[in-house]
Amino acid sequence: MENSEVDAQAALHWLPGGTGPPAHPRRLLASVPYTGGVSGSDLGYWLMWLLGLGLLGLCTAVTWWGLFGDRARGRRRCPRCWYDLSHTPGMTCPECGLTATGERSLHKTRRRWVPAGAAALVAALGSAWTIEQAQQGGWVSLLPTTLILGCLPMAGSADGGLISELTGRMASKQLTEGQWRALIGRSIKGDWRARPVTERWQEKYGVLLGRRRNVFPPELDLDSALLDLPAWVDVRIRRPWPKDTPLCLELAVRDWWPSGTSCRVQLTPKWNGAEPITVTRSPARRGARRFPIIINVPSALSPLRFDVSVQRRGPEPDASWEAVQRQTISVAIEVNGELADMLRPVRDEKLDQAVMDAFAHGVVKWTSGRSPVRVRFDHRPTLGIAFNDIAIGASIELLYDGAPARRLDIWWLAGEAAAGRRGVNWLVVHEDVPLLMQANETDGRWQMRVRGDPALALRSGPASRYWAGQFTIPLVVQSRNRPAPPRDWRLE
Ligand SMILES: [Zn+2]
Repeated sequence: MENSEVDAQAALHWLPGGTGPPAHPRRLLASVPYTGGVSGSDLGYWLMWLLGLGLLGLCTAVTWWGLFGDRARGRRRCPRCWYDLSHTPGMTCPECGLTATGERSLHKTRRRWVPAGAAALVAALGSAWTIEQAQQGGWVSLLPTTLILGCLPMAGSADGGLISELTGRMASKQLTEGQWRALIGRSIKGDWRARPVTERWQEKYGVLLGRRRNVFPPELDLDSALLDLPAWVDVRIRRPWPKDTPLCLELAVRDWWPSGTSCRVQLTPKWNGAEPITVTRSPARRGARRFPIIINVPSALSPLRFDVSVQRRGPEPDASWEAVQRQTISVAIEVNGELADMLRPVRDEKLDQAVMDAFAHGVVKWTSGRSPVRVRFDHRPTLGIAFNDIAIGASIELLYDGAPARRLDIWWLAGEAAAGRRGVNWLVVHEDVPLLMQANETDGRWQMRVRGDPALALRSGPASRYWAGQFTIPLVVQSRNRPAPPRDWRLE
């Protein structure tokens, strides 16, 4: 996994703790009604449970009958041939000639060991098979799909058994048309604990709807169902912020609309003197993105309030932007203390080397496009346990004769725990494209300078130390003979 600034956060997992959910879907899935009932693909599961439980009940009954079904109940019986001796005086059986040893032995319970044992054995084998199956595939693997679908509101997140079993059955196309409809309808509606499109919903139903399109049967018109979902917009701040550093918020945007749909989000701060912020998603991509917003805030203003307006445009050539939702987001901020008290510098040779390794790949130069020269990085060398509690914030300059042709601010959390939880975020601060198009390794005039900066490190989240090193290396340029890939989301 090698990164460049090419929107590496597309598949990001969000941390819980956002502000209020956006509006509920306007109309529910009228085109995709739920047709209940037992389906063909489930018949095997239902039969297995029906026959299995029936067999278990039968075996239990037979075992009980064999052991306790024929008690003496006051009768005197021969303990060998069970002839009724109630009206026969004495201890000798007239049928088989056995002479009992005492009165007690004439009142024994008759045990039928063979049927009782056989039934118990069958029950034990059946139970063992069921347990074996359950351990191999999980208990959920034994449940009919319709039952799993019905239990979805009780399921946890995508890590839980129900959802992963369901995604497995989706991938192997084991669902009937009715079950597909039920699945899509439930996912679009969510449930009382996971309203669309809250983060709980995203972890659960968003995962199901986010499967590859070709998993879903084409005749179901999933696309028009997806248009019922609102976009998810959130603004957050990662930690208490020091007084002496510009505030950096993160705008998070995500939608589930069909491929070909564009999305535009406008964020208007509700205080005087602040400019609206607009981000747009290209029609080709879906998925999440978070944008750093460096913003001037009047001191002691909390919470910050934003009006959010989301627009959508279809794939048709003459399509125009259509307003789909409005909401207000408020973010509580805590501005307090000074940067120097929050983050302490770390000078460490191993960390220096790890950061150098992260940027050793230089830049990629495409022939044209938006930001045709982009920094390549691989932050994995900094993810070792030795770097826990360290934030990396670096200002990267591509220097031509010592003057910056491009500046990129980049930040992430180093250390072990940070690996999967947070990605890298970045902001292009300065860019001279015509000059950058001349970048090369051969004339000796190009360098890359990387400097640790606590104000950038602060943006990456909770850590108490930051990388305070810096280095300058000759620029490594890798040319690609095609236009730069589009940015999936971009800040206008
Ligand atoms: Zn007898």
